[in-house]
Amino acid sequence: LSFSSCNLPQRLLQNLEASGYEMPTPVQMQAIPAALTGQSMLVSAETGSGKTASFLVPIVSHCTKLKNNPQKPLAMVLEPTRELCIQVEEQAKLLGKGLPFKTALVVGGDAMAGQVYRIQQGVSMIVGTPGRLIDLLAKHDFELDSISILVLDEVDCMIERGFREQVMQIFWALSQPQVLMFSATVSKEVEKVASSMVKDFSVISV
Ligand code: AMP
Repeated sequence: LSFSSCNLPQRLLQNLEASGYEMPTPVQMQAIPAALTGQSMLVSAETGSGKTASFLVPIVSHCTKLKNNPQKPLAMVLEPTRELCIQVEEQAKLLGKGLPFKTALVVGGDAMAGQVYRIQQGVSMIVGTPGRLIDLLAKHDFELDSISILVLDEVDCMIERGFREQVMQIFWALSQPQVLMFSATVSKEVEKVASSMVKDFSVISV
């Protein structure tokens, strides 16, 4: 399997090449085609496996194909830390270069007003930490119906940090999105979180 056999937008293929992504990594080979079909999944993948692009490629592709203008949030990515959010947004910017794909970062440490303004101006993807997202959603009435893809990255780490309830709260605020879950370790707890959100999900491990 190659990126060019996945029916991705031409510009995304160029961006992948420009980022030095010549061949999909093993996790990408399994996760990208499955995610593109709209199914939910639980992927056991560690940092360094290329897991970030496993969800960003389907998200950028989906947002681009929908001709999402003015940009409504179509995807939400939850990360356990601010640093991970920043890294994901950076990679998203590379992959979405030249495409109508704007992102908003919702993390602590920056003024919330600026984050709210950015979302109001129109973005396709929101990347944030659960706590800050809950704060923001409690104070502002955002239209979240448009979000059709939810990513839970580092699920094991989110549970360890006590974010489980907040993650569930965010999930319930959405309208039955496709859920893409990634975890270095897939424990009973991780499986419980997964099955409390979606009945049918494929399990991918490489
Ligand atoms: P991740 O596991 O998402 O943290 O990615 C680890 C590193 O691999 C990141 O620096 C990515 O830029 C890089 N990467 C991801 N996918 C590919 C690929 N298909 N080819 C080359 N490098 C990649």
